[in-house]
Amino acid sequence: MNPEEFRRRGHELVDYIAGYRENLPEQPVWSQLKPGELRAALPAGPPAEAEPFEALMADIERVIVPGLSHWQHPRFFGYFPANAHLASVLGDMLSSGLGQLGLNWASSPALTELEELTSDWMRQMLGLSSQWRGVIQDTASTSTLVALLCARERASGHSQDRGGLQAEPMPFVVYASGQSHSSVEKAALLAGFGRENLRLVALDDDYAMRADRLAQAITADLAAGRRPCAVVATVGSTGTTAIDPIAAIAAICQEYGVWLHVDTALAGSAMILPECRWMWQGVEGADSLVLNPHKWLGAVFDCSLFYVRDPQHLVRVMSTNPSYLQTSADGQATNYRDWGLQLGRRFRALKLWFLIRLEGVAGLQARLRRDIANAQWLAEQVDATPGWVRLAPAPLQTVCVRHEPSGLSGEDLDRHTLGWVGRINSSGLAFLTPSILDGRWMARVSIGALPTEREDVAALWAMMREEVEC
Ligand SMILES: *Cc1c(COP(=O)(O)O)cnc(C)c1O
Repeated sequence: MNPEEFRRRGHELVDYIAGYRENLPEQPVWSQLKPGELRAALPAGPPAEAEPFEALMADIERVIVPGLSHWQHPRFFGYFPANAHLASVLGDMLSSGLGQLGLNWASSPALTELEELTSDWMRQMLGLSSQWRGVIQDTASTSTLVALLCARERASGHSQDRGGLQAEPMPFVVYASGQSHSSVEKAALLAGFGRENLRLVALDDDYAMRADRLAQAITADLAAGRRPCAVVATVGSTGTTAIDPIAAIAAICQEYGVWLHVDTALAGSAMILPECRWMWQGVEGADSLVLNPHKWLGAVFDCSLFYVRDPQHLVRVMSTNPSYLQTSADGQATNYRDWGLQLGRRFRALKLWFLIRLEGVAGLQARLRRDIANAQWLAEQVDATPGWVRLAPAPLQTVCVRHEPSGLSGEDLDRHTLGWVGRINSSGLAFLTPSILDGRWMARVSIGALPTEREDVAALWAMMREEVEC
């Protein structure tokens, strides 16, 4: 494909994407494809000769689109908002088209410096102090793994330069809660702590980590000769958007010299709203934090922001450069390969830069406020309607509900819940994810897809009340 042909096909493809977004309301929200169906509809091997572009696009319509679950649909209420704002899509397209690869500063100076700039813009938007330095990772899973590696190396005095964790006399312990994201457990295991050294601290009635229980667990581990190493606290848990008490947890971490990583992958975007910042009050006492602009904010996946207060420590842990004792803050250029796992990196800052510049901070704030108001509206409806129970506080955009007809409990109640949620999902008219809370199924209504307006939430609520009668 030469540039001339690219120009023509590129315009067609942009038209196609715009049409896809425009026509989403008419599509079933969730793909009804059966496993294996898509592969069976396509040739098992590659073509020997070049095919025409038209044949490719015909297969997109015939085979690929039916296999899409539409995260950008106005009636998508599943998982979490994974918003791919079209302003950000343009930045992502440009990133691909420019074909940049950041191995070090010189291999694409703009790539590095725009990543520094956009992560600092975001820092300002979030109301964080200038102590923080940011880097774009692919996902929160990676960011949390990097955080725990930093914690491990700080607590062990850089054991990686000696015999590693294997040579340490006493085990290191990581603390999280039963509502922490599964990526925390995964990171703790991959970082070599071992399952026996991962503590899930008890929760309060709102599903937040109890700071007093954390302190007890830490002192018990110390007394038993183990070494408290890291706490992963969550602001906006995946199940219910629960909010761990960061200020109290940070004070405990400081007292015992424990690394505090704050996982606010979803809720972090809301910290661009000053009225939401009470949710992470005390965050300045943390050592690292992660938020995903690729969720609610609208940057195209993958764009996870990882902030640290001590970039020199991060670089020392992540660098294999023999001259790693150089400081990262000595006025030299940043080499982001020393800020995470990967060597090569895409020009990911472009999709965030496009989003911020083309929407403006005020525009982003207005959209998030719309979503929070819509969630509050739904929470009020649920609270005011007999037979419906709201199971957790709804400080952001997720509302956890159950319909509990009198006389139904236990597994019968589970069957009822999975029944009505399943009927909504298979109707194609809306999509929400059931999940388990305290051992019982519930419905999680996650609000905040880009085109979701009040009328979409109202339509879902009407559907919910209808389906529970079936
Ligand atoms: C979504 C989410 C994650 C995982 O995010 P990835 O970027 O997909 O790894 C972790 N923690 C919380 C609280 C989340 O909401």
